[in-house]
Amino acid sequence: MRLTRYFLPVLKETPAEAQIVSHRLMLRAGMIKQAAAGIYSWLPLGYRVLRNVERIVHEEQQRAGHIPLLMPTLQSADLWRESGRYDDYGEEMLRIKDRHGRDMLYGPTNEELITDIFRANVGSYKDLPLTLYHIQWKFRDEMRPRFGVMRGREFLMKDGYNFDLTKEDALHAYNRHLVSYLRTYERMGLQAIPMRADSGPIGGDYTHEFLVLAETGESEVFYDSQITELKFGNREIDYDDVAQCQAVLEEFTSRYARTDETHDEAVFNDLPQDRRRVARGIEVGQIFYFGTIYSDAMAATVTNDKGEKVPVHMGSHGIGVSRLLGAIIEASHDDRGIIWPEGVTPFHVGIVNLKQGDAEADKACEDLYKALTAKGLDPLYDDREERAGAKFATMDLIGLPWRITVGPRGLKNGVVELTSRRTGESEELSPELAVARVAEIYLDI
Ligand code: ATP
Ligand code: MG
Repeated sequence: MRLTRYFLPVLKETPAEAQIVSHRLMLRAGMIKQAAAGIYSWLPLGYRVLRNVERIVHEEQQRAGHIPLLMPTLQSADLWRESGRYDDYGEEMLRIKDRHGRDMLYGPTNEELITDIFRANVGSYKDLPLTLYHIQWKFRDEMRPRFGVMRGREFLMKDGYNFDLTKEDALHAYNRHLVSYLRTYERMGLQAIPMRADSGPIGGDYTHEFLVLAETGESEVFYDSQITELKFGNREIDYDDVAQCQAVLEEFTSRYARTDETHDEAVFNDLPQDRRRVARGIEVGQIFYFGTIYSDAMAATVTNDKGEKVPVHMGSHGIGVSRLLGAIIEASHDDRGIIWPEGVTPFHVGIVNLKQGDAEADKACEDLYKALTAKGLDPLYDDREERAGAKFATMDLIGLPWRITVGPRGLKNGVVELTSRRTGESEELSPELAVARVAEIYLDI
């Protein structure tokens, strides 16, 4: 993409309404524009990152064997009356009447709809296990939408639902989700720690929230510092292997890590003092096994191998796709702007032409642009007639992890400069080597 042909409405001023750094930077970098309280338009740069986050979520869900579909945003109230949640959900649910006076709602989540799809189409244990998921906009009429996309009213969520014959099978699905989530967040350059969370009126131990540590997080968390040393990394996982998934769950949940709702001061105080941490975190996902509550309420049964009709065991598992952009920026920025992890960056590399209009510099930039594109990379070429300082400031603000700087002086010696946004370190290389280096960086990502 050439910047003169792109739509990147960066702001010079720091928007007064934004209280936290990720919100400020998303506005300044021209990623989002508020349309109404807690509702945003995704401008081209923000949309690119959103799509990248979504792509990683899709890839990791499908790697775990989960099947994508797409359910609507608008739902009929009837199903929610059946489950009993139409009245229980309260003011967070946006209720709408259609022209015939029928009660509709903008879905805050999809347990009812998916259970209805399941019961209409699945009747035998032979069709299990089954996990279906989608990535779809949700609406929750939050009392205090704030922090930009972090707590929106309209937000994008991945929600997945497992259907299993037994509790044991459903717990494997739970573990599988935990493992796949660890991989998902790490691919986005994030450490998200699974913490024991509150299962509410349903009870049981089977819910974890994934939290990214950040001072601006809305949740108070308590954990053993050793948990931050765990990395999932590039392990080979067989998602059908029950013991293997269970082992990962144990590895990542055996140390103390809880949100304030489940925090137990006595257990926490048994940890050596120097390992006790009290901090804040951003919830970027949650997994939940809830047994047969929806299948009981909505008569979602299958026949087992003895010919008996039994309710299916279910769980639901969410990832806050749009919130993740805020969380990534909270975890990765400096005073000059965003620093995108390679996994989600809107463009792989920026090209800065120090002397636009100089025949040699222009040609070198065009050649670099073509060579990078030919390698399957997506460069952003700043081809504006601007001072070098302004071009650097824009690149730093929008946070591309790599920048190639091209100027007449370097070209005399046959070199361009490759700079890391994260470390600020630069290296002079021939244009060919710079292209090869960038291609190599993205090879495994
Ligand atoms: P919270 O406690 O933050 O209100 P929740 O526990 O009600 O969230 P879930 O139903 O668990 O949310 O939804 C799954 C994920 O969707 C959450 O982990 C979070 O990342 C994201 N999410 C929930 N509410 C919002 C929101 N208002 N804006 C953006 N993302 C959200
Ligand atoms: Mg939650």
